[in-house]
Amino acid sequence: MKRIPAENWYAVKRLDDDVTAISEPFIQEFYRCNIWHVRGRDRDMLVDSGMGVVSLREYVPLVTERDLIAVASHTHFDHIGCHHEFECRAVHAAEADLLANPTRENTLADPYVTDEIFDALPPEPYCSKCYAVKKAPATRILHDGDRVDLGDRHFEVIHTPGHSPGGIALYEKATETLFSGDILYDGPLIEDTYHSNAAAYLASMERLLKLSVRIVHGGHFPSFGGERYCQLITGWLNEKQKTI
Ligand SMILES: [Zn+2]
Ligand SMILES: [Zn+2]
Repeated sequence: MKRIPAENWYAVKRLDDDVTAISEPFIQEFYRCNIWHVRGRDRDMLVDSGMGVVSLREYVPLVTERDLIAVASHTHFDHIGCHHEFECRAVHAAEADLLANPTRENTLADPYVTDEIFDALPPEPYCSKCYAVKKAPATRILHDGDRVDLGDRHFEVIHTPGHSPGGIALYEKATETLFSGDILYDGPLIEDTYHSNAAAYLASMERLLKLSVRIVHGGHFPSFGGERYCQLITGWLNEKQKTI
């Protein structure tokens, strides 16, 4: 398979509200994590950091311009690969051990990471069989209700277990912006990993439905608006009702 030079690995797209979407277009869409950069007055926030197969700091200079807190929406391999490159790292308490001691199994790299998830491979010396996430122990442990403060912008931590035990969403009330991680995005949701929990998933969705949301930036797939947000959650809840 063809290899992509490091300088072409990431795609960077600036959106409204000082939010920039960073992605890895040569990873197939289903496995491709959205990396979100939010500009704040005093510091910036990164939500997730991709697979870590090419240095984010070196090839996306935006992430080095200011103090930055690298938050993990949760600790699956596709979301935390570059966390070790940042000094300030935050994760929910329930997945702090995973960020500090990642393995191929507990990050789901095994079984998901094979050459088949790529349309073109990362540069040498990448190899799917030896791929592993580097340790990045958190410097800040997050709990439900905590605030990530960027100076002029504040994001509330909403604990959303279900997809994984320490999943979080980040909610900015002033702009009704939600970074939802993998609990909700506009694509097939994953509810059956080794540490997924059906009851917790249901409770998280019911809680999310009560939020007033204008724009959602999920862990995968394109962003969407408030109407689609309600539609996705109620559709999901209705499906669950049927199967009970
Ligand atoms: Zn995940
Ligand atoms: Zn994911």
